[in-house]
Amino acid sequence: MAPHNKIRDDILSYREMCDAENIQTLQRGMNFRMNPSYSVILMSQRANAPYRDKVYEDGITIEYEGHDVPKRSYDHNPKAEDQPHKLPGGKLTQNGLFAQAVARFKSGNSPPELVKVYEKILPGVWSLKGYFDLVDCKVVQDGSRKVFRYILQLSDRVDVGSSENQTISQVHTRLIPSEVKKEVWKRDGGRCVMCGETKNLHFDHDLPFSKGGTSISAKNVRLLCMKHNLQKSARIE
Ligand SMILES: [Zn+2]
Repeated sequence: MAPHNKIRDDILSYREMCDAENIQTLQRGMNFRMNPSYSVILMSQRANAPYRDKVYEDGITIEYEGHDVPKRSYDHNPKAEDQPHKLPGGKLTQNGLFAQAVARFKSGNSPPELVKVYEKILPGVWSLKGYFDLVDCKVVQDGSRKVFRYILQLSDRVDVGSSENQTISQVHTRLIPSEVKKEVWKRDGGRCVMCGETKNLHFDHDLPFSKGGTSISAKNVRLLCMKHNLQKSARIE
């Protein structure tokens, strides 16, 4: 089995996420080439999320919405304006930078931009979904304004990260819906159900898909720390 070709669901605190990116605070959702070799986006499928991001049914494709103009004053409504491609001075916005990368890819001049994706699960709780290829971008009409929509597909070009991450990626993980993750996180109190550890947690599906695992609900998902996740994986394989 290719160890990396599936969406990951490694759970991180906000602090762990920032530390992983060697940055004090991650404030923006879109971060073009924040790292010399990849970009970073923060997505959310929460009901009150400011943008409409989603994971497709295929489990490997993400649709990500571009970002609005900054709020200029108390009564300014960014949602009433087109999402900007350029700043007033002519420099590209984050929307523009990601769109330019798609154009370069489509013209055959460069490989797709590599994008590391994190998803907000709850306040302070994030999931690392892995590395994706930025393959498409379009500007669409959304009500009375125009917004950017980007298409990202799980990348098979990279097996990036520390040896620890590579070990984790060998554990059976499949896409678990955000709603289920939220429910499980609350039920298990943000701790490994075996030992109470609160760091490096993973959503564990109790029937591996390879052995006919069933549909995913909170009943067959639980939180495990890295150690217990790996122990379980060793037993199954
Ligand atoms: Zn544990």
